[in-house]
Amino acid sequence: MTNKLSRILLSLLLVLSLALLAACSGGGAPAANEGDQGESATGADEEQMVNLYTDRHYDTDQELYDLFTQETGIKVNVVKGKSDELIERLAREGEDTQADLLITADAGRLHRAKVQGLLQPVSSEVLFNNIPANLRDPENYWFGLTVRARVIVYAKDRVDPSEISTYEDLTDPKWKGKILVRSSSNIYNQSLLASLIAIHGEEKGREWARGVVENMARDPEGNDRAQATAVAAGVGDLAIMNTYYIGKMLNSANPEEVKAAEALGIIFPDQEGTGTHINVSGIGLTKYAKNKENAIKLMEFLSSVKAQQQFAEANFEYPANPAVEPSELLKSWGDFKRQDISLSLLGELNSKAVQIFNEVGWK
Ligand code: FE
Repeated sequence: MTNKLSRILLSLLLVLSLALLAACSGGGAPAANEGDQGESATGADEEQMVNLYTDRHYDTDQELYDLFTQETGIKVNVVKGKSDELIERLAREGEDTQADLLITADAGRLHRAKVQGLLQPVSSEVLFNNIPANLRDPENYWFGLTVRARVIVYAKDRVDPSEISTYEDLTDPKWKGKILVRSSSNIYNQSLLASLIAIHGEEKGREWARGVVENMARDPEGNDRAQATAVAAGVGDLAIMNTYYIGKMLNSANPEEVKAAEALGIIFPDQEGTGTHINVSGIGLTKYAKNKENAIKLMEFLSSVKAQQQFAEANFEYPANPAVEPSELLKSWGDFKRQDISLSLLGELNSKAVQIFNEVGWK
């Protein structure tokens, strides 16, 4: 497959060089629209490009886009924004949107973009080979690119980790007043509960949510990192958070965050049972993509062995492509058993999860 890819890339380069030669020697069609190159991508003579809306903001991503441009001649125009705002913008722009691709975090959110009619399916053998089936939409509307786990962290100086091994353990009355977790309005918690509903059923999901509420150290406030900081500060003993935030805190420029993260131990829940909840950050082709072929090439590139390590490592995430090793830091946390469900269920069960959170008063 790598051979096939390099052959495709080589022929692309060849075509591009010929086009350039033709342009330089004045042969071929007159360059009538020289002045507005880059403004639109409909003319055959114009610059090849792809327009990407992304919620990522890492300098190392740009290196990958530059590499993609080097290899294909396709320029990557990046619009950065917050996940929900990008989806709102796509919806607002409708068929006039410039965006060909959307990258956003959480399968629940990708599913939302799908059902809002903002994406279109992509049938690509490269993507099917690179991205495991459970990490992509069954109808191919979105593909996971990086994987995060939602884990339990504990205060190393106060908690014996042998006392807790499952999500269900968080509902044990012995943790009353000890649990820190962000608001249920956040998609990460909605997806976690959706996964528990998918695996254990609605009633168990409700019991779990109710039990966590009963054990909360305070009303939910702040993001995942704020929960970790609060555990370190003694507000509670256990917190629920995404793995990449631990990586970010350990590597933070803020010494307080580093200190807080170092005081925490990590538990991957349900290792003897149904596995730890995972989620993805992923990519979808927009419904009204004007540069469809270029966009699919970029999707394939980002799923490739070549790009996956750097793409995942930038956000301390696990590569979605199983042929690629996670970073040393993530390896140091050990391998873990993952929930074995299609992540599309996180989207399908999202409204059920939200309804349960409201019922049990998880703010
Ligand atoms: Fe996040």
